[in-house]
Amino acid sequence: MTTTFKNFIGGQWIAPATGEHFENRNPADRNDLIGLFPASGVADVHAAVASARRGFERWKRTPAPARGDVLRRVGDLLAARKEALADAMTREMGKPLAETRGDVQEGIDTAYYAATEGRRLFGHTVPSELANKWAMSMRRPIGVCGLITPFNFPLAIPTWKAFPALLCGNAVVLKPAEDVPHTATLLVEILLEAGLPPEVIQLVHGHGEVVGKALVEHPDVPVLSFTGSTETGRFVGETCGRMHKRLSLEMGGKNAQIVLDDANLDLALDGVLWGAFGTTGQRCTATSRLILQAGIHDAFVARLADRARALRLGDGRAAGTDVGPLVHEAARDKVERYVAIGHEQGATLVCGGQRAIGDVLDHGWFFQPTIFSGVTAGSRLEQEEIFGPVLSVIKVATVDEAFAVNNGVRYGLSSSVYTQDVNVAFRALQELDNGITYINAPTIGAEAHLPFGGVKETGNGHREGGWEVFEFYSETKVGYVDYSGSLQRAQIDNY
Ligand code: NAD
Repeated sequence: MTTTFKNFIGGQWIAPATGEHFENRNPADRNDLIGLFPASGVADVHAAVASARRGFERWKRTPAPARGDVLRRVGDLLAARKEALADAMTREMGKPLAETRGDVQEGIDTAYYAATEGRRLFGHTVPSELANKWAMSMRRPIGVCGLITPFNFPLAIPTWKAFPALLCGNAVVLKPAEDVPHTATLLVEILLEAGLPPEVIQLVHGHGEVVGKALVEHPDVPVLSFTGSTETGRFVGETCGRMHKRLSLEMGGKNAQIVLDDANLDLALDGVLWGAFGTTGQRCTATSRLILQAGIHDAFVARLADRARALRLGDGRAAGTDVGPLVHEAARDKVERYVAIGHEQGATLVCGGQRAIGDVLDHGWFFQPTIFSGVTAGSRLEQEEIFGPVLSVIKVATVDEAFAVNNGVRYGLSSSVYTQDVNVAFRALQELDNGITYINAPTIGAEAHLPFGGVKETGNGHREGGWEVFEFYSETKVGYVDYSGSLQRAQIDNY
């Protein structure tokens, strides 16, 4: 029997006002229907925001250490249910269990980090310029936070946003990606079980152009955090700018791994395989460009192709699977379009380039790990985000050229350099235009307690994770206490 799932609005699980639902199917097997999820409408978003405003009035008065205690229990529950969550996540978005377990672990780490922040939320105490006057700053909650999340980290990304937002005393309306509504449902169940007051969290499923848009446009949602494509982010940014909202954007990437002639090539090979084909290339930090110095180029490409051909494609829940399917048909179509563009622009197909076929594979959205060499800097293959298992190899002569190619795209999320030269490594940290640079490690692998985000068209200057995110979800308030007993005037020349 098909399960019909609900929204969580106004402190209860309820059907959408529209009465409409959409199907959620397993991308590794389109015959596997996970359930029907609400195709909510604008009225559902309005009800959720009204409820969240009530939740906020209560939650903002809860002491921050007590809010942290709730998040610690959330971390405990995530840990206890890690296996079930990973299984549900793989079933609805396809990446192998080893990766979805990592996705849950990131949520656990984020919960425990946020829990301890409840006992910090530091302000500053600084000297006043006047005698007998006290000057300090503190953090205040803001209100209702609208969180719009993508499909590729179905648990981790909602936790990156929701946990710091809640810890700071805000209420949350979560709008998860249409491809991964089940994981979001399981997360909200855990938040409630951990003791979060019901109206502090709302979950509204549905299509981005309806539910996401209504959330962005709602005047009572002063804070928006969006992770997704640069195109959608631009729309969100325009609306938020017009409405004077606080907005965090995390968007696309076109990340490069640079391998220099002096690199440990075995290490670099392991790195690029994981970076390019992990999560079927559907990570914002995925390695989609490989910049090789001429001296090692030919041998490295040959070894890489052998390793890529040997990757085992399959259902992410089956033992031995290295690479799962793409998330849906449109994602695979997009990959096919870029393979055609690669051929048109004269790049050389080294391996892959086709749909993966076979008994199991015919049921899902599988595509062979694909490598193009001879890709020209500036070409579409080299410039545009594909979000699939397609790696473009660019040959360069020098370190300077490698850095220029890395920086020559509109995105700036992560980069990676394989070298034994400490001077080049430190130059890379300074000169590569990315929010994150890895030395002798792949472009993916962010840790929950460090700031995460990108420059240029990847972001808008904010960071998720680490200590910085708590500033995004709280407002600075400054307090002065004058205990002199007389009128003292600041900025007046008293000397
Ligand atoms: P997407 O932009 O299609 O969707 C993201 C979310 O936005 C979904 O919940 C969707 O329903 C919603 N949405 C769609 N239209 C909307 C609208 N008009 N108004 C408001 N919300 C709307 O992205 P996706 O396909 O789910 O994810 C892939 C993209 O996300 C890639 O570009 C990837 O690089 C990016 N991403 C970035 C990061 C990062 O931290 N920089 C992390 C993960 C993914």
